[in-house]
Amino acid sequence: MIGIVAVSHSAALGEAAVALALQMAPTAASQVRVAAGAGTDADGTPILGTDAMAVSAAIDDLAPRCEGIVVLMDLGSALMSAELALEFRMSDVPVRLAPAPFVEGLLAAVVAAAAGGSLDDVAAEAAGALEVKTAQLGASSAVASESESESEPADRGDIRRVVVRNALGIHARPAALISEAAAETDLRLRKLPEGPDAAAGSLSRLLLLGARQGDDIEISSSDGAALDRVAALFDDGFGEGVDAAAPLGHGEVPVVAPESADVPETAEVRRRDDRSAGSVLLGRGVSPGIGVAAVVRLGAAPTEPDPSVTVAPDARGEEIGRIGTAAAEVSESFRRRAAAASGEARDILDASRLIADDPELRADASALVRAEGRTAARAVWEVMGEHEKALIAAGGRMAERATDVRDVRDRLLAALSGEALPGVPVRDEPFVLVARDLSPADTSSLAGGSCVALVTEEGGPTSHTAIIARELGLPAVVGVAGATTIADGITVLVDGDAGRIEIDPSSVRVAEAVAAATPVAFDGRGMLADGRALPLLANVGGGEDAALAADAGAEGIGLFRTEFCFLSRTDAPSIDEQTAAYRTVLASFGGKKVVVRTLDAGSDKPLPFANAAQEENPALGVRGLRISRRAPRLLDDQLRALALAAEAEDAQVEVMAPMVATVDEAAEFADRARSAGLARVGVMIETPSAALLAAEILEVVDFASIGTNDLAQYTLAADRLIGELGDLNDPWQPAVLRLVRAIGEAGRAVGKPVGVCGEAASDALLAPMLVGLGATSLSMSYRALGRVAAALRRVDPSSCRAAAEAACAAPRAADARAAALRILGGRVPVPVTASGS
Ligand code: PEP
Ligand code: MG
Repeated sequence: MIGIVAVSHSAALGEAAVALALQMAPTAASQVRVAAGAGTDADGTPILGTDAMAVSAAIDDLAPRCEGIVVLMDLGSALMSAELALEFRMSDVPVRLAPAPFVEGLLAAVVAAAAGGSLDDVAAEAAGALEVKTAQLGASSAVASESESESEPADRGDIRRVVVRNALGIHARPAALISEAAAETDLRLRKLPEGPDAAAGSLSRLLLLGARQGDDIEISSSDGAALDRVAALFDDGFGEGVDAAAPLGHGEVPVVAPESADVPETAEVRRRDDRSAGSVLLGRGVSPGIGVAAVVRLGAAPTEPDPSVTVAPDARGEEIGRIGTAAAEVSESFRRRAAAASGEARDILDASRLIADDPELRADASALVRAEGRTAARAVWEVMGEHEKALIAAGGRMAERATDVRDVRDRLLAALSGEALPGVPVRDEPFVLVARDLSPADTSSLAGGSCVALVTEEGGPTSHTAIIARELGLPAVVGVAGATTIADGITVLVDGDAGRIEIDPSSVRVAEAVAAATPVAFDGRGMLADGRALPLLANVGGGEDAALAADAGAEGIGLFRTEFCFLSRTDAPSIDEQTAAYRTVLASFGGKKVVVRTLDAGSDKPLPFANAAQEENPALGVRGLRISRRAPRLLDDQLRALALAAEAEDAQVEVMAPMVATVDEAAEFADRARSAGLARVGVMIETPSAALLAAEILEVVDFASIGTNDLAQYTLAADRLIGELGDLNDPWQPAVLRLVRAIGEAGRAVGKPVGVCGEAASDALLAPMLVGLGATSLSMSYRALGRVAAALRRVDPSSCRAAAEAACAAPRAADARAAALRILGGRVPVPVTASGS
């Protein structure tokens, strides 16, 4: 990845320019550094100027993580400081000083770097960044046109047609999304019929397309998956809402295929399938439970007020008064809602009330009306928009608050225009609410109503949607790409534990899912029919889960996914922050075993501070333990924090590493963990390599824990996030069962414990099988403990072994399941959890 250093005379200027650029590509945050100002004077006032030492320090800071660095400078002595910095720096990573305009260049460079561009690409993007402005202000764009036609490849691969559906066309944000989605591919776009064309990786060229709503665009690439991703962005209106009248690019516009090539299954066919009966959309389950009902989509947000309308000077006082009236009206409505709510929902509504009545924001909006003649609505739109952007630029939890600001803005606009409030429709019959994102007011208004579950395209586990949904006990799944394209009225099954949305499910499937979600009490002692103990542990992602797991009787924690504590962080948590987070989990399990997994960042759970912005093949990339190759300190800090947490609490802490493939990796991890003061060290076995080397790996660690989710993914070479490959991502696949048996045998041979912590452990039929294959403990969602415990109490070790052998001998997953059912059937409940991811 390429790093960027912004050299500016002014810290305020440098930071603001970087914040602007990062709005286009927030994932690049860890790749950008600002070197600004020349220190401070005796009073602490910043001195304008540049400092070569600061520039070299910024370069050295980025160097260990970057293949190259592009330096952008504002003016004058910044250039000299940057040149001098090349003499002072300690690192030897290639550095390019870009002769680029500071703001435009920074923006283009950040987007190109986030899209995985090379040093040359990023420098070229920065240098060409002024072309957009030049072209728009009337200067010749002949240079651009010429170079475009020169660079057009002879073979354009597959070709599709899409339609621009969002109101604002391909402006900077959609362009940045396209660049990201097509990173490191040859994807190009052409405006039809004969407009210019552009490489997807070039933000400036994409903007020069001048594509507006309703325009047809041809996209071409030899990479079908990239075509799918970019086509999906167009269909979704780049997340900005779509004109319902604008056709979906693929449905109505014929697909143009290369004459001679075999046409693979096209994106539009798959997408139609994705919305057909029984198909599955995946997201992140943030509030547990099952909800089944027809979809209702959230009412539309207000449209952008016209910026060209000017209020006459003598009417401006009255217009300013309207802002105050609207603010008072909206804040009063929040006050009433807050009074009727309780707990966190009330706090959140109170916060929204304060935003609505914020004197600074009101003053800024009033100033725009007074000085520029903006309408009240336009002034509110601009001021709240700036505030929202600033929150997004701040990242992390601050960025999640941007939704609250947008909600307040929409309510102010509704109050100013007298139109109906955007928001949740009122229904008597049960419904599943689907939205791009939900505001706290929307979510809290669902209390006591007919909504049975929530699905959003955006949002994270700490968003207010998630917090309030948990508080209201509404199952919720967030981050579901394409959710808003599910038509109103279609029945969906929302599984808030698994993060799955099943479209138009069969009645059998609904009955299974509801039964699976019905809790069965657990008395806190896992055992087989002969009384042999089989510890049943819980999988958790933080303190709240741990408390629930302890209440549910879990005998300990078998998997603490530490990465879940830091999903919204853009910078690495400090040792103190980590220690505090780990202690919240350990505190619920005093005297009991807690197996803590070091950060499994990457693949479906990328952490900006640990992973590269783009990886060609993230599931096979630098994820899990492999991150310590690049960032050894991250692992050492985590082990240190964990040792401190273990010292401070009573739990019996064990630590294990994810994504281990070799004996050397296991041995090195064990050394580092023990040096940090952690006595019991293990590894997860979730790659076929580790499974086959289990005997040797168990010589160097104290225990193993089998991650059947990834073991199935890697054994069958099937991405676990793709619903349509669910039949391959199935722990009943005999190849997976045989690997589990090999690991169990290795554990028995050396007398070391082998647990299972993948989803398979929560399946009441698979659980006895896993015991028969050699599992010495099972770890699962705390909701599954009672059901699995009941199944195990009905089977003895010999029938577990017989079922396991019969299943392993089977040639197919269905045969393995049937064989197990033949032997265990009648004693265990009919399995109810869906297999796959
Ligand atoms: C697994 O892979 O089975 C596992 C438990 O880890 P995760 O689901 O977090 O990848
Ligand atoms: Mg895993």
